[in-house]
Amino acid sequence: MWHLVVIGGGPAGSAAALRAKRLRPDARVLLLDRDDFPRDKACGDGIAAHGRDELALLGVPDLIADYRPTTRLSVVSPGGARVSATAARPNHVVPRMVFDARLVEAARARGVEVRRHRVRSLAAGNGHVVVDGAFTARAVVAADGANSTVRRLIGVPATPAKHTAIAVRGYADVPPDDEVQLIAMQKEGWPAYAWSFPIGDGTANVGFGMLLPRLRATGLPGREVLHGRLAELLPHLPARDLRAHHLPLSPGRPRLGAGRVMLAGDAASLINPLTGEGIYYALLSGRLAGEAAVQASADPLTAYRRGMRKALGRHLRTTDVLARAAQSPGFIDAAIGTAARRKEVFDLLVDVGLGAGTVPPSLAFAVVRRWIVNTVRRDGAATGHRAAQ
Ligand SMILES: Cc1cc2nc3c(=O)[nH]c(=O)nc-3n(C[C@H](O)[C@H](O)[C@H](O)COP(=O)(O)OP(=O)(O)OC[C@H]3O[C@@H](n4cnc5c(N)ncnc54)[C@H](O)[C@@H]3O)c2cc1C
Repeated sequence: MWHLVVIGGGPAGSAAALRAKRLRPDARVLLLDRDDFPRDKACGDGIAAHGRDELALLGVPDLIADYRPTTRLSVVSPGGARVSATAARPNHVVPRMVFDARLVEAARARGVEVRRHRVRSLAAGNGHVVVDGAFTARAVVAADGANSTVRRLIGVPATPAKHTAIAVRGYADVPPDDEVQLIAMQKEGWPAYAWSFPIGDGTANVGFGMLLPRLRATGLPGREVLHGRLAELLPHLPARDLRAHHLPLSPGRPRLGAGRVMLAGDAASLINPLTGEGIYYALLSGRLAGEAAVQASADPLTAYRRGMRKALGRHLRTTDVLARAAQSPGFIDAAIGTAARRKEVFDLLVDVGLGAGTVPPSLAFAVVRRWIVNTVRRDGAATGHRAAQ
């Protein structure tokens, strides 16, 4: 009997295993992944300062300390408003090939048993779960990613297409001293954006992402659209090793599990709809699921739900609302235009996009006012133009 079986060795799964072992060193924890590590994962490799806070809570504060920190961010809105500023706290860019393998290795070093195994079935017992007829556990953390098998096995429907994005990432050569994290948004097919995240070793992770229904609406092959838009938005950065994947966004999040099975990370659709960032949520949700597994073994799912509500409830409701408003590119133009003038607004937006921040009413008011002013000016200019003709 295992105290905890974790399915998936990405950031969510490793966080669950590390946290369970940290709280209860004698707990028997098994981590299953269909792949051996190191393994690649399509990702922008961007790890926000908030993610580093989570690493500290997991007892691995220096896991990525050898990678270059950067505070420089530059964002171009769909209408061309630009903000270039210094973030309050540094972000990192660490290839997932390295990051995930280090996390799994840290878990193994703490006594977690790691095995290569692809999970195909689950059976609920009385006070336990049997995985593939072979592993019996008091609790299971399903951290098996965006196309989670476990989520399907426990009867939780997949994320609806309207709340799913798709993105491609590659690697490009950049000057070693390039440290600006660039996000260039695109009006066509909005919401859509390209990024360049320099690693610090003369390469940058570059990519392009958009909502799945917008991609389908083009009627063109996905590869053609994603690769084409990336090349169009970042023509100076030809990319290699292109790889795409789905991003289940948090407005489509499901219930967090069933019985003794807890969904974490992408398996729980925990990706920020404004930025596509999911590593911080994966580490946080994995940590809370691991905690519930060993501290509330009578009913881990209820404890996990409670923990998640406390940690992310208000934030997720905020991003639900903002994601709806952001369907209009004018709203994003106004938000970025406001951030370009007021540093405290820039910092708040970073917190909402990369962490667990919420929006105070004064900021919402400032952005909406700017949005209205921009719209009135644009409409006025169009009317004047027509009158002149
Ligand atoms: C192109 C792209 C760019 C992105 N950029 C960023 C970014 O810059 N920053 C950021 O924070 N987020 C980014 N994200 C999101 C981020 O990649 C995910 O949110 C994050 O990987 C979620 O971690 P996870 O542990 O939940 O899942 P994953 O990292 O996907 O790990 C799931 C693991 O489960 C294993 N697995 C799957 N099925 C089974 C099975 N049946 N049995 C056993 N094991 C199984 C897999 O092998 C895998 O190791 C990006 C996503 C994409 C697609």
